[in-house]
Formats: sequence, C-alpha cells, structure tokens
Amino acid sequence: MNKMRFIDLHCDTVVCEVMGNEDSKNLRSNPTGMLDLLRMKEAGCLLQCFALYIPPMKRIASTTGEADEWDFFNDAADCYDRQIAANTDLIRPVGKYADIEKNMADGIMSSMMTIENGEPLNGKIERLDEMYRRGVRLITLTHNQENTLGYPNCLEPDAGLKPFGIETVRRMNELGIIIDTAHLSDGGFWDVVKYSTKPFVASHSNARELCPVMRNLTDDMLRAVADKGGMVGLNYAADFLVDKTRYTYCADIARHARYMADKAGVDIVALGSDFDGISSTLEFGGVEGLGMIEEALNRCFTADEVDKITHLNALRVIKDTVG
Ligand SMILES: [Zn+2]
Repeated sequence: MNKMRFIDLHCDTVVCEVMGNEDSKNLRSNPTGMLDLLRMKEAGCLLQCFALYIPPMKRIASTTGEADEWDFFNDAADCYDRQIAANTDLIRPVGKYADIEKNMADGIMSSMMTIENGEPLNGKIERLDEMYRRGVRLITLTHNQENTLGYPNCLEPDAGLKPFGIETVRRMNELGIIIDTAHLSDGGFWDVVKYSTKPFVASHSNARELCPVMRNLTDDMLRAVADKGGMVGLNYAADFLVDKTRYTYCADIARHARYMADKAGVDIVALGSDFDGISSTLEFGGVEGLGMIEEALNRCFTADEVDKITHLNALRVIKDTVG
C-alpha cells in the first residue's frame, strides 16, 4: 500500500449516478470509471473532493423530471452520503481540517463534498447555511451557464459577479466554504480577488499561456491566486494542457505545474484531476496512475516541492479557509 499523499480538488464521479449512469453506482469498485475507492486507496490518495455537478435546469428536467436545482443538489448530496456511508472502512467525510488529521492517523482517506455550479442557491443566501450543514466545503460559483451568481468564461468573459454573487462570496468567507473560480468569467474572477478576504482556488484549471483556452488562467490570474494564498488544481483534460488534443501525457501536466510555479510560486500548484468529467485518453489510465504524474513532477521539482503539489498546498488552503 502506498503512503497516503494525493489530494485532488475536483472529480465528477459521484453525480454520475444521479444522472442515471448505472456503472457509477458502486463507488467502491468501478473499473469502467476513472476513479473508485479501492484504486484510490491503492494509489495513495489522502483526500478527494467529490463535486456534485449541478446541470442546467433543462437537463435536470429531462433526466429526473424535477426541474429544480435545489432538489437536484439534495438528491446528489443524498447519493454522496450513501456512497460514503457504505465505505467508511476506506473513506470518511470531513468538515474541518482536524477531521483530515484524524482520518490520516487512522489510515482512512478523507472525502469533501463540493458543488460545481452555485445555482441551487437561486438568490437565497440562507441556502448556503443549509449547504454548509450538509457538508459542502467548496463551491464552484458557476459552470458553463449564467446563473444567479455570475457568468461563465465561455459566454461572458468580461462580465463581473452579480450582486448576489458578491453576497455569496462574503457569506462563504464567513462560513468557511472555499470559493472556486473554475469556469467563472475573467471579470468574475477579479471580483473574487476584490471581495474575498480568504484564499480562493481554481479547482481544475491550467495555464492559459501554455494552452490558450478560456478555462485556463492568465499569468496575472496565477499571481492573484498566489497573492491571496490560494491554489490552482491541475486539470488532466488533454485539450486544457495542449490545445486541440485528446491524449493526456504526464509530462504536459508537469510542464503546466512548472510554468505556474515559475510565474507565481510553487505554493499555488495542486491537483484537480476532473476525473469522470473529462473524455481524454489518459497516459496513466486513471486514479491508479497518480504515481506516474508524481514521477513526472519529480523530474521538474524537488521532493519537498512535489509534496506541496500533491498535498501540502491543499492542506494549507483548507486549514486557512475551512478551518
Ligand atoms: Zn468543471
């Protein structure tokens, strides 16, 4: 068994079940997916952020018959709770930094509930408290559609956060929920820089200078993340690493890591796989191949720096934001 050391800021594995993917019903062992708990344990995973991806309302209506994002969030959270509760010999949910330390001491992996798309809030700030109570500790403010918080980078790159988005950022700071700017417009990103009093993250994004897609971050954005004490999770999608490609190489992940570190310091670099949310062919297979990514990082960084990228930076940000 490998030492527990990998923290991953984003995967879409859990919500596949809610979306009607029968294969994903067994989180413990699912060889057809990019990630399952047994392979995570074997690979040396320490903590996984499981995103509850909230699809556009039209898609919710066509798959579940319930045209409401709040219902969908609750169904997805129920699914997450069921999957984690059935596997507490391997993984346990965490709500505080101290929970992670306890799990580590017990040799148990940690699981953090996150949300991709803040639309279940739908303008109701009190729902944020309910999300926190359910265990949510990170929210990606938007996905690829406009919502009540703001705009995605694929539609309105210059638009800032809406007033409710700013209110949400402030309340997330107070509660101890990590703000995630992945998918958010550049204008929204800079509003997060302006209004957040705590470190924030881009959970699954790369360097725009190396791969010119809007989902990636400019050098100025990387430095702004660093100035706030936040981090950027490296996304393993081939076309976010090298423009218009579909095969992901570990060397390209390491190249983006090195670039980010050179521009903004190694303290911002973390892992944000996007497992089961991407369709690239991965050189390393799936979660079982994290050691191959680590080997590629070892060729560009010192051992202490690799530790920061694989887990220490994420632990620091969780401690500074969630508490
Ligand atoms: Zn995403």
